[in-house]
Amino acid sequence: MAKILIILENAKGKIVGLTKECLTVVQKLAGELEAEVEGVILGQDIGSLAQEAGTYGVKKVYKVDDAQFSGINILYHTRTIEALIKETNPTLVIGGASLYGQELVPRLAARFDKAMFASVKSLTFDDDEYEGIHPLFEEKLFISMEGSAGELTFATILGGNNPEAEPDDGLSAEVVDFSPVIQDSDKRESFVEETIAKVSVDITKAKLLVSGGRGVGSAEKFAVITEAAKALGGEVGASRAAVDAGWVVYDHEIGQTGKTVTPDFYIACGISGAIQHLVGMRNSKTIIVINTDEEAPIIEMAHYAIIGDLHEVLPELMKSV
Ligand SMILES: Cc1cc2nc3c(=O)[nH]c(=O)nc-3n(C[C@H](O)[C@H](O)[C@H](O)COP(=O)(O)OP(=O)(O)OC[C@H]3O[C@@H](n4cnc5c(N)ncnc54)[C@H](O)[C@@H]3O)c2cc1C
Repeated sequence: MAKILIILENAKGKIVGLTKECLTVVQKLAGELEAEVEGVILGQDIGSLAQEAGTYGVKKVYKVDDAQFSGINILYHTRTIEALIKETNPTLVIGGASLYGQELVPRLAARFDKAMFASVKSLTFDDDEYEGIHPLFEEKLFISMEGSAGELTFATILGGNNPEAEPDDGLSAEVVDFSPVIQDSDKRESFVEETIAKVSVDITKAKLLVSGGRGVGSAEKFAVITEAAKALGGEVGASRAAVDAGWVVYDHEIGQTGKTVTPDFYIACGISGAIQHLVGMRNSKTIIVINTDEEAPIIEMAHYAIIGDLHEVLPELMKSV
């Protein structure tokens, strides 16, 4: 029987959101391949996370719970998962295309001398072949990669393209301890410390975003964006122009150098629609644009466009809620 091994990335006592997105891809593939889903989780004090993985349909979780895995030493992770793959013979190994996954999974593919589907937004199976879609140049070009499902295959999945899997409390996994495999040559890296930037708000989870750009006019005037977001029960987004001007902090930036968001409602106020902004918000379900320029490029992708001054339109909008 085909077997999928998912690498369960975890941080700060949680399975990361990207892994939950990968679980959605894996659940679908498991149906198409009639495959069993197994997972591997590495870290320290991760027993509850191994159990939690079961609620996402992972049937068996290999747990490497060891103080040497409290930080991420990629060579320890590579060696240990390599040993697990040799022992359990999965057909497909999947991880998220995070910094961790992008370093780990290609190393694993190289150890087994296999090619991989690197940073694909989707991975599907049909007629004994996998197909992975890899975006290029800010999603202006897509490469379709194909590979035989008969071979051991590796893949990393890009974030922001699949919904996070929903847990089902009725499901559980068999949790199996797997011992770390570390060789002396792996010890050339040592974990010093982990520094995580403070994030004031996670806009990637927001269902509604009111986003302000250069057209807002000033830091003082940006208050109208914050007030509208609050009144509508959403969060604040911004273009890079607004962030660079210092009107709002970087955590709110959307686009190529900011976050990728997919809210139910995206209200773009005073944003022209540069490609670097559009790549971060174009998968929003409903896009509403408020702009004085009826030829602003962002209007092409708007479901609704209000041509007018945002400082007049937004207060009117707030009155109606
Ligand atoms: C390598 C690189 C990476 C980048 N990454 C990003 C990124 O991640 N995110 C990002 O956003 N940008 C990014 N940029 C910048 C991007 O190219 C644009 O410069 C930026 O998005 C423009 O921001 P804006 O739309 O707010 O401003 P502008 O392009 O100046 O548009 C302002 C808009 O406001 C409208 N307007 C003016 N007054 C009003 C009013 N009173 N009411 C309503 N509308 C009004 C105008 O008609 C105009 O359409 C990047 C650029 C580079 C080179």
